[in-house]
Amino acid sequence: MSIAERLSEVKAEIRAAALEAGRNPDQVRLVAVSKTRPAADVVAAFKTGQIIFGENYVQELRAKAMEITEAVEWHFIGHLQSNKVRQIAGLVSMIHSVDRLSLAQEINRQWGRLSRSCDVLVQVNIAEEVTKSGTTTEEALQLVREIAHLPAVRIRGLMTMPPFFDDPEAARPFFAGLKHLAELIEAEGIPGVEMGELSMGMSGDFEAAIREGATLVRVGSAIFGERQYI
Ligand SMILES: *Cc1c(COP(=O)(O)O)cnc(C)c1O
Repeated sequence: MSIAERLSEVKAEIRAAALEAGRNPDQVRLVAVSKTRPAADVVAAFKTGQIIFGENYVQELRAKAMEITEAVEWHFIGHLQSNKVRQIAGLVSMIHSVDRLSLAQEINRQWGRLSRSCDVLVQVNIAEEVTKSGTTTEEALQLVREIAHLPAVRIRGLMTMPPFFDDPEAARPFFAGLKHLAELIEAEGIPGVEMGELSMGMSGDFEAAIREGATLVRVGSAIFGERQYI
């Protein structure tokens, strides 16, 4: 199958899952995860109407962005080192993986230099797995409060990667947990903080995530095929 065919299949599945859950399909946006894929694959997907692409690695993102002239919108979804933030300042429209204050402070500094602001999601390690990044559920509210003071950083919601299960239904309690946490934070009414976005669900479990309220699904291999690495 071509990228165009797989993309249209994924979009149909997103739509069906949203409708089944009684949700408006327009409230679920697809982030096409293009890590390890050549720029030509991004362009092929863009030509079918896909706008948002997710990348995990700073160097790879920069190289691809240089090569591509189309008006794609980049989201950074991987673990981000503070000393690399400068290299993506102004280049990405959203960072899904903010999990510590020092990182948010550096984003604030770099976007501030450009007199712009950066939309971010706070990444929560909802299952508290030692191998995964993300703040804990307990610390999320405090982190949000601290980031809320930074003028060039706008918190739009939360992101999570649940444990991998063969049966995607098993991930649902973790997706529900992220939504619940977003509601708790929203109820605090912290000025400048929005909890409208829930970035959750990947190739294997995006339908389950949509049933639990995902507004951004990050789908890679179902669109571009299996990766060689990562
Ligand atoms: C690679 C990656 C994805 C996409 O994974 P697939 O299983 O290929 O859909 C989504 N989110 C993050 C954070 C990733 O690193």
